[in-house]
Amino acid sequence: DLALYRSKDEGGGRHNVYEPKLHSHAEERRVMEMALRKALEKDEFTLAYQPVVDAASESLVGFEALLRWHNPEFGQVSPARFIPLAEDARLVVPIGNWVLHRACCEAVSWPADVRVAVNVSAEQLYEPDFVETVVEALSETGLAPQRLELEVTESVFLREGSRAGETLDRILALGVGLSLDDFGTGYSALGYLSKTRFTTIKVDRSFVQGAARGMQESIAIIRAVVAMADSLGMATTAEGAETENEVRVIRELGCKKIQGYYYGRPMGAEDVAEMFSDHRAAMFG
Ligand code: C2E
Ligand code: MG
Ligand code: MG
Ligand code: MG
Repeated sequence: DLALYRSKDEGGGRHNVYEPKLHSHAEERRVMEMALRKALEKDEFTLAYQPVVDAASESLVGFEALLRWHNPEFGQVSPARFIPLAEDARLVVPIGNWVLHRACCEAVSWPADVRVAVNVSAEQLYEPDFVETVVEALSETGLAPQRLELEVTESVFLREGSRAGETLDRILALGVGLSLDDFGTGYSALGYLSKTRFTTIKVDRSFVQGAARGMQESIAIIRAVVAMADSLGMATTAEGAETENEVRVIRELGCKKIQGYYYGRPMGAEDVAEMFSDHRAAMFG
């Protein structure tokens, strides 16, 4: 029952993206950075959770945690806008730690077969104590490592001497899952796929859209990624499926998991909890 995953009010999924009016671009960035610096202590962050379903059975397998920032001056700001700012200002480490703790803390009360995926910036991964931070989040919240998945993009492999591969191996050794996010949009050098045993490759929404429109290039790329993932023992998740047609095409192309508005928008933690209390029997019975 697809409607199960749809929240009533779409939770934190919508952004009224702040439009700069009074400030120059640089000035606006500076003011937003100052606000971002105080956002943690002012408790302006929340997490929205978007369902991920098994492509074959359409049963729920987990949620991706997506950061939401509401500021009195700027309103709701899209993470696509403030995450890069947080990365530049070196704020993404404390913010990312908060996300990790909050996501583990909220997920621990979900049914045991529902996982949570947390996005991790390269800057976080490069911190020497990143693995300890993950261990701490798990032990302090009591979440089993198998229920946590970290999402990184190809950009983590770009910095020379960052030992990203070693850090990712230590994460995997904990039993935590590892997704390669937005695959196909970046550099897509395939070398590191033979070194890091990603659990899942997430196929970017642009290919999903293209394939559903019949674009041969997109179809060929999804086919190739699925074949490669299969032979490397990795799963594939198609991102951003909005329509029945997109879902149909993705399933035909063999992606193992699907995430997108078709199955559900990002929703607040309360809506997730309510979903489990309302529908537990139907979903897991
Ligand atoms: P992402 O990790 O690739 O997350 C998926 C994005 O696609 C989310 O946008 C989600 O709301 C959106 N999406 C999902 N399904 C659909 C669909 O069917 N159609 C369309 N048009 N969009 C869909 P969101 O929440 O705005 O996040 C944007 C990006 O910001 C994320 O992309 C991720 O890179 C970053 N981000 C979000 N939360 C965090 C976080 O806690 N830490 C870090 N480092 N980055 C984050
Ligand atoms: Mg992600
Ligand atoms: Mg993505
Ligand atoms: Mg993305």
